[in-house]
Amino acid sequence: MRAQPTASHFIDGEYVEDTEGTAFDSLYPATGEVIARLHAATPAIVEKAIAAAKRAQPEWAAMSPTARGRILRRAADIMRERNRALSELETLDTGKPIQETIVADPTSGADSFEFFGGVIPAGLNGDYIPLGGDFAYTKRVPLGVCVGIGAWNYPQQIACWKAAPALAAGNAMVFKPSENTPLGALKIAEILIEAGLPKGLFNVIQGDRSTGPLLVNHPDVAKVSLTGSVPTGRKVAAAAAGNLKHVTMELGGKSPLIVFDDADLDSAVGGAMLGNFYSTGQVCSNGTRVFVQKAIKQEFLSKLKARTENIVIGEPLDEATQMGPMVSFEQRQKVLSYIDKGKAEGATLITGGGLPNHVTGEGYYIQPTVFADVTDDMTIAREEIFGPVMCVLDFDDEAEVIARANTTEFGLAAGVFTADLTRGHRVVDQLDAGTLWINTYNLCPVEIPFGGSKQSGFGRENSLAALEHYSELKTVYVGMGKVEAPY
Ligand code: NAD
Repeated sequence: MRAQPTASHFIDGEYVEDTEGTAFDSLYPATGEVIARLHAATPAIVEKAIAAAKRAQPEWAAMSPTARGRILRRAADIMRERNRALSELETLDTGKPIQETIVADPTSGADSFEFFGGVIPAGLNGDYIPLGGDFAYTKRVPLGVCVGIGAWNYPQQIACWKAAPALAAGNAMVFKPSENTPLGALKIAEILIEAGLPKGLFNVIQGDRSTGPLLVNHPDVAKVSLTGSVPTGRKVAAAAAGNLKHVTMELGGKSPLIVFDDADLDSAVGGAMLGNFYSTGQVCSNGTRVFVQKAIKQEFLSKLKARTENIVIGEPLDEATQMGPMVSFEQRQKVLSYIDKGKAEGATLITGGGLPNHVTGEGYYIQPTVFADVTDDMTIAREEIFGPVMCVLDFDDEAEVIARANTTEFGLAAGVFTADLTRGHRVVDQLDAGTLWINTYNLCPVEIPFGGSKQSGFGRENSLAALEHYSELKTVYVGMGKVEAPY
């Protein structure tokens, strides 16, 4: 077993095991090989993790923001020094090619610790409000114990995107990674301790959909931040509402990417490919409905087909590989069933549509797939597939495409490719989404807020906005004179 961790959970600064918990295996998606055997958290483990977080949090919150920030920035440095090892682990955990993980996963996590460690000394200041003789001031205070629950597509990044703002703001966190990708978060916990984070502030426990509610319903938990699907989001938000916990919901999408006929075509094709095939299509903000203006449809499709058929699919640890397998057998089956629906409902298959024939063995590989002539009512145009399946839809004019792009329950992201910048701004202004791009796609540096609207969730990760979601306002009114009472 190539990645066997010391134990399943990391609580109060050390690895902890409880073999009473249901055993489960972590598989390398490229081969199906068992790389680690773990146990889901028992109720006793959940209690232990939350108790450790609750005990450690007040002292951490009382430290100066500069001192807290220094520890987080040290963690960023350690992550960068270990980028290769962390990236290999991320590749084993997810099946994503090392070519991607080495630039997009631990480095993005490190950016998060560096950013929040750097901004926190100035990022949580309050206001002074003059009131004539009296005055008031506000301060932002931490929430307490926060729970993070992760999806399997970016396990290290998700752990860091939640831990960094939570810790910077003075909270403690209990993080539950996806049961499909349990390993990376344990290493983040180890690194934080090495960087000087006091014990108990970042704890990792394992488990699946039956473990999550133990965290979400716990009375000592003040906030839940979930990255996952819309159905899970509904359940978690409903449970959190039971005792009015704060929530951040980073959920699924079916985002539109609109290509006008004046766009730089090679950039638009590249953007559409990145926004559909990166991480084998397992990215929440992917622009999976690619609306192409009719005049350029044929040229767009022929460039797209040629470039898609050149994608190097293979062993993820090989530096030359551009696309690895899907995360699990079940996820690949789900994507294949959507491909069947696309064919059955009359979309034109441009390329892909099955399993790559040059890859042998057990891996959960799938061909990058492009459908054209997709119409708005087709299942593949309405539901989140979460795999490398691009739907190309035609359109005639701006007003029409905006209306069609917005006809979805989702609102995570959207993109526009056009040479006319006035139009670019005008169109994004009318698209219902939380995160939008003009002439690029899917770039999410830590400096900018990321998150969705409509059924794609609420709250924001990254940027100063994330700090607001891990803190609350306290307002203090100061009376400077005598109290005048009428009785
Ligand atoms: P999922 O919803 O199945 O699971 C997400 C996490 O929630 C897992 O850790 C799971 O164990 C846990 N969970 C499931 N049921 C729960 C419950 N009732 N209570 C508490 N926790 C519960 O999602 P997934 O299949 O792991 O990930 C794919 C989905 O995540 C896609 O829909 C994708 O769009 C979305 N996603 C969103 C973002 C974003 O930032 N918006 C990022 C990545 C992935």
